[in-house]
Amino acid sequence: RPRVFSGIQPTADSFHLGNYLGALRHWVALQDSHDAYYCVVDLHAITAGHDPSVLKRRSRLAAAQLFALGLDPERSTLFVQSQVPEHSQLAWVLGCITGFGEAGRMTQFKDKSQKQGSERASVGLFTYPILQAADILLYQANAVPVGEDQRQHLELSRDLAQRFNSLFGRTFTVPSPHIVKDTAKITDLQDPAAKMSKSSSSPAGIIDLLEEPARSAKKIRSAVTDTGREIVFDAEGKPGISNLLTIYSALSGRSIDDLVAAYDGKGYGDLKKDLAEVVREFVTPIQERTNAYLNDPAQLDKLLARGAEKARSVAAGTLRDAYERVGFFPPV
Ligand code: ATP
Ligand code: MG
Repeated sequence: RPRVFSGIQPTADSFHLGNYLGALRHWVALQDSHDAYYCVVDLHAITAGHDPSVLKRRSRLAAAQLFALGLDPERSTLFVQSQVPEHSQLAWVLGCITGFGEAGRMTQFKDKSQKQGSERASVGLFTYPILQAADILLYQANAVPVGEDQRQHLELSRDLAQRFNSLFGRTFTVPSPHIVKDTAKITDLQDPAAKMSKSSSSPAGIIDLLEEPARSAKKIRSAVTDTGREIVFDAEGKPGISNLLTIYSALSGRSIDDLVAAYDGKGYGDLKKDLAEVVREFVTPIQERTNAYLNDPAQLDKLLARGAEKARSVAAGTLRDAYERVGFFPPV
């Protein structure tokens, strides 16, 4: 079976609809066809400053949500990154074959460091995509389900795999991004030009999976829409309403064309009201299942420890090969 790997940062209490529609629903779907490795990337989550008293809780919340969304511990290996030290070890080696200028071209670093003030941005934020490449390459992943914002990082992962292979001998599978266009960039409800983001969207711009459905309904009601009153899909001309249609279509399974036909002659308010209901129906069972996992943290930690053990057995093999090729001593 082909391998799949992906990760998500525990940078908020809840995941949002962009995370789910752009990435997580593909994680769930790919467990059927792939040997699946998924990771709560807590090492990545400390690159932009964090609070130690909340990080572990957020990692558990992340795992609980992932199981609640349908990751099956029998079919997928879900683990927390900090429990598998090989990630940092391989990242160092890959960092040594990455050009400084090459890393400097990553647009996520430019955006995030600018927001923090470039003098204050950490070196970890700069080397983040190299750690991400290590995450992926350790598992010899063929496919990496992510949103559009990760395309450039995936390109770097491919380049580093190829470069290492040609410098030191064939070691890594060259991974392909798995980006499903329709929902690859869910936008901020208040700013249809920006992607919905855990760390940079305003609360009003983001629909969290774990928030009260009444709160989501309110945000959908006040979502920025476009001039005119016609409900049509036009990502450039009407980005606000098109984003709502994208979310509606993906959550309900109805095609955009079907929705546009159904709302012919109706107003933005009707669409928003119905979308809020679709969101409520979607999140309610997920919230219940998430709480069930959180109510038994010992069991949750046990599932994660088992995942880390399985992940480590793969990661250690890959790291051993990479060390050998580079000319290091084997681990003792
Ligand atoms: P942060 O703001 O802390 O970077 P994030 O919301 O970007 O958080 P990540 O943990 O960085 O979330 O990314 C997890 C996955 O969700 C990635 O595959 C990413 O591409 C995807 N993703 C994030 N935001 C969106 C979005 N708005 N639309 C589609 N996919 C998204
Ligand atoms: Mg992100």
